[in-house]
Amino acid sequence: MTAQWNTDESRHFVVFFRSADARSVTAVAAKAEGYYAAISRDLGLRARRLRGQRHERITIYLFDTRDQFQANTGEPAWADASSIQRLRVIYSFAGAKEFLVQALPHEIAHVLLKEAVGFDNRAVPAWFEEGFSSLYEEKDAASAAAAVGTSIADGSYLALDRLSGLDIRGSNDAALLGRFYAQSSSIVRYLKAIDGGRKFRRLIRNMRSAESFERALTAAYGFKGIEELEEHWKEYLNR
Ligand SMILES: [Zn+2]
Repeated sequence: MTAQWNTDESRHFVVFFRSADARSVTAVAAKAEGYYAAISRDLGLRARRLRGQRHERITIYLFDTRDQFQANTGEPAWADASSIQRLRVIYSFAGAKEFLVQALPHEIAHVLLKEAVGFDNRAVPAWFEEGFSSLYEEKDAASAAAAVGTSIADGSYLALDRLSGLDIRGSNDAALLGRFYAQSSSIVRYLKAIDGGRKFRRLIRNMRSAESFERALTAAYGFKGIEELEEHWKEYLNR
């Protein structure tokens, strides 16, 4: 028999769980609040909320097992979590490997980015969404950065126009996926580093109304297009 759902609430989250240990669930909510604050700040959402824009809590469903998670979400075997951003819902399961420090911040970042640019926004490239989410995963960023640096040095990196055209959702190519995520997060990290994050927050604001990502990028950073971003990013990494 399947256990009933229990809930735990914090300021910005409601966690639904079944058999998971209640203390570990409280730890999930506490960790989630920390990510929520940092990501909101980076996106310029805090200022907007202070002006009174309403928002609802994010709901996290923690299934008891990976099997239940997969059966209820249709996610592939390698996935540890997923989200439906428009509904502000995140799904995972108790004991997912590295959930607290990787999948949890990754999915919160997906939800909040969409809140910032508009849930219907189709202009956001997949590399930008995934690169942004990957930035908040607590993992060894140094080795990923080194791999990206090497790929630039030997010319094997994914040119940005190729990266922009990649739809990775259906891909099983682990090597390509690894390069896609590492390079995407490297470019977003670079965009965020400029000018103490001010231009990044302007880019996010621009994306709400711009009809294309490139226009929003040009208006925020002055890059003439994606090629110029690529040149500056490569220079920055080679410094
Ligand atoms: Zn993702």
